[in-house]
Amino acid sequence: MNTKQVKAYGAETKESDLKPMHIPRRDPQAHDVELQILFCGVCHSDLHTAKNDWGMTQYPVVPGHEIVGKVTRIGSATTKHAVGDTVAVGCLVDSCRTCGSCKNDLEQYCPARVGTYGGHDTYLNTPTHGGYSNRIVVHEDFVLRVPNNLDLAGLAPVLCAGITSWSPLRHWKVGKGSHVAVVGLGGLGHMALKLAHALGARVTLFSRSAHKMADAKALGADEVIISTDDAQMKKAANQFDLIIDTVPYAHDLNPYVGTLAINGTLVIVGYLGPLDPMLATVPMITGRRSVAGSLIGGIAETQELLDFCGEHNITSDIEVIPMQEINTAYERMLKSDVKYRFVIDMESL
Ligand code: NAP
Ligand code: ZN
Ligand code: ZN
Repeated sequence: MNTKQVKAYGAETKESDLKPMHIPRRDPQAHDVELQILFCGVCHSDLHTAKNDWGMTQYPVVPGHEIVGKVTRIGSATTKHAVGDTVAVGCLVDSCRTCGSCKNDLEQYCPARVGTYGGHDTYLNTPTHGGYSNRIVVHEDFVLRVPNNLDLAGLAPVLCAGITSWSPLRHWKVGKGSHVAVVGLGGLGHMALKLAHALGARVTLFSRSAHKMADAKALGADEVIISTDDAQMKKAANQFDLIIDTVPYAHDLNPYVGTLAINGTLVIVGYLGPLDPMLATVPMITGRRSVAGSLIGGIAETQELLDFCGEHNITSDIEVIPMQEINTAYERMLKSDVKYRFVIDMESL
């Protein structure tokens, strides 16, 4: 298969900073869309992957799965997108299309799903490479339409931070009268506040960071609870229908489970790994409370969210950076010093 070398930024080892490199992109096949990447959001998963926090990174790795771009070429049989369209690509670039999950618009749970980076590129038989690059080629079914009334840089984080919050909000049927809490005010957390608020829920933020209180209220929180204050945590008992926990590292879930209403669910979207300390079952059994997990969202659900964002004028609150500042951005992300998503202006590459 013919390929073209394109500019990218990636990591060679878990110790190394990200730096310029070249990667191959296939020439568009019959159903492909080639896009020039305009903006790419910076997700905490990019950082986990570059640093091999999950122990499965294949190097070199080019992160980035919050992609907005312009279509530059299409394949001979492509019908869903045309040259010149503004489009988006999120966390997935392919799946098997035949399993139960794929048939139910849940491609994120397909055993053969292909992640935008670090997945298995079935065309080139190499790992896939993500959006920290100036071009990407993706099957048309995994390319999304973009509303024409929104800032394109601010829209990029909707493709991961947004959909990862939206999917549990929809699955657990959040709407008017729901009481939702969000743990952690970063990229995912700030989108969760905005989206839960737009769905009509009463929204509470749990944060370690008292200085984020005013921002949280502006983003849609009705209330902020400082999670390190035991008195505030105790007072919050028995009230939430859904808690979306976005914290990236191991932490004690037990104080949060106690704040769930009867039948409430705490859904973990952040931390991947064994819990420490362990989960106490008494509050779960005595209140039919659940602790669950959720992974990004499917293609149809991501399109639904993009359309919802267009209708409700929702974008992410961002700091636009040039590609060359990615290593500093990672350091700041580790200190929870982001308001509230970095987005790379890919022209800088
Ligand atoms: P982020 O922007 O860095 O935000 C994380 C927030 O969590 C921080 O702003 C901070 O909020 C809080 N926090 C950070 N470290 C903490 C600690 N040690 N203890 C307690 N709170 C802490 O990250 P993000 O991009 O939103 O991503 C969050 C997590 O979701 C990452 O682990 C990422 O890999 C994962 N993720 C999962 C999916 C999925 O499909 N499930 C999709 C995308 C991302 P406060 O200052 O308010 O406490
Ligand atoms: Zn992500
Ligand atoms: Zn499948």
